Amino acid sequence: MKPKAGDKVKITTSDGEFEGIILPRPELLSQDITVLKLKTGYNIGIENKKIKKMIVLEEYKTPVLKAKKLKPKADLPTVAILSTGGTISSRIDYRTGGVYADYSAEDFVAMCPELEEIANIKAAKVMSVMSEDAMASDWVKMAEEVLKVINEVDGVVITHGTDTMHFTSAALSFLLKDLNKPVVITGAQRSIDRGSSDAFMNLICAVTAAAKWDGAGVVVCMHGTMSDEFCNLTRGTKVRKMHTSRRDAFRAINDEPFAKVFTDGKIEVIKEDYAKRNSGKTSLRELEPRVAMVYIYPDMDPGIIDYHLKEKVHGLVIVATALGHVPTNNPKSLIPALQKAAKKIPVMICSQTLYGRVHPYVYANLRKLSMEVGATYLSDMLPEAAYSKLMVALKQKDAKEFMLTNIAGEISSREVDDCFLI
Ligand code: ASP
Repeated sequence: MKPKAGDKVKITTSDGEFEGIILPRPELLSQDITVLKLKTGYNIGIENKKIKKMIVLEEYKTPVLKAKKLKPKADLPTVAILSTGGTISSRIDYRTGGVYADYSAEDFVAMCPELEEIANIKAAKVMSVMSEDAMASDWVKMAEEVLKVINEVDGVVITHGTDTMHFTSAALSFLLKDLNKPVVITGAQRSIDRGSSDAFMNLICAVTAAAKWDGAGVVVCMHGTMSDEFCNLTRGTKVRKMHTSRRDAFRAINDEPFAKVFTDGKIEVIKEDYAKRNSGKTSLRELEPRVAMVYIYPDMDPGIIDYHLKEKVHGLVIVATALGHVPTNNPKSLIPALQKAAKKIPVMICSQTLYGRVHPYVYANLRKLSMEVGATYLSDMLPEAAYSKLMVALKQKDAKEFMLTNIAGEISSREVDDCFLI
């Protein structure tokens, strides 16, 4: 039998004997080397020509988790966990070296027995995607699944990839109309099979929030600091992944988190300007996915706007510079192309600075864009929120009016400067 990645082997070489797990060889590494993960956790490379003997001690098998039968407890709230994929649902496959999405919500409960003490868990696997692959149709599917269970539970947790979690949290905030309970989205920066995984704490805090936070609406629950102190509960339309890998990557922008959630069940409210749980009827809005988002940069080709028009997008979000500028007074002015676009479809302006508000009148160039082009300025709305909101707005009677109406806290009415870089 030829040893393969994932197998536990004993290798005899001229330098001695080594026992460990064969790792897949990174593409850049020479073909003549076998990489072994030793018991100590260190990886070593052994030149194949030095190997005298290699015996397989244990063949690699993809681990299968035994999902646990869950027994309901009368005194506990009920929480539905809907799993959608991402790192929180993943483990390393030693055969390929890749991370793959696989764990379902039942598996989480099997792996994290604390959850059963917090709530009676109903679990469903909605999809299994890495969130960079998520499509607008997936947001619709998630919203539909929430609606299916919302009246039977005290709150819903969605486990999700972190890359585009803030797109989903915003999209669900607009798709779920009059949400009467919390929908708490969580994920992990490190997969569950690693000692340093943040998955368990994020899950415990998310289930705690879904079970007993007194608010209604879509929130993100992720690590509040680099260590395991607490998770932040942040408004779905005002949160953003701000770091590639830190556990505390998710930050409130132009806003503060609503609350800190601790693993012992404590919820410490930071600010209480959220809708409360209620007995209203939640329903679904629809979306039109043909919306494009264009990031503005110096010397860009105005043909990019024409391209989107040719592709028949129904709405455009311009992620402009600072107060809401686009190149205006130079040979590559975007104004003619945007003017053409705005005659056919709604053109929305938000800022790539993320913090602060766009403003249509401060400079002459801004006035050109707002008055001559007819672009709509979205105050302090985040680009990701504007993107999914425009999809939903296109299904409303008056898209522009919907965009300028505060639906889910995406437009702050108060001073936002005290929340800068917190
Ligand atoms: N790329 C993964 C995803 O967004 C990363 C993660 O889940 O943290 O699905």
